[in-house]
Amino acid sequence: MGAKTLTCLACARLNRVPEDKLGKGAKCGVCGAALLPGKPVDVDPAILQKAVQNDDLPLVADFWAPWCGPCRAMAPEFASAAKALAGKARLVKLDTQAHPSAGARYRIRGIPTLVAFERGKEKKRQAGAMPQARIVSWLRS
Ligand code: ZN
Repeated sequence: MGAKTLTCLACARLNRVPEDKLGKGAKCGVCGAALLPGKPVDVDPAILQKAVQNDDLPLVADFWAPWCGPCRAMAPEFASAAKALAGKARLVKLDTQAHPSAGARYRIRGIPTLVAFERGKEKKRQAGAMPQARIVSWLRS
């Protein structure tokens, strides 16, 4: 049975999670935060970068801002997608108003933009709000 490396999205420590524990309430060995909460987690650029580089599960980042209406409209859809993809991918949110450097670093031209990362690399991105079903099918395609 293999194990997956997951970055704790709260304290940034790396955890090894046995594959049979994915989606079953795995917790960070350091701070106790849920590693696979089944809902979007707010992250800062440092934790995002560490998770992109180290995680064995796909990571989807929603680049958004509080002033952006379409971003707020998509939030419940993104949360629902996080639940649907629990154990298969982790969904995170990065507030580009609070962290403007991240928007530049990831070349975000409009928000919301979803960026999917896998094994240290950007796999794809999609600008514009999407409903839950499209987020899930976009990620799986
Ligand atoms: Zn932790």
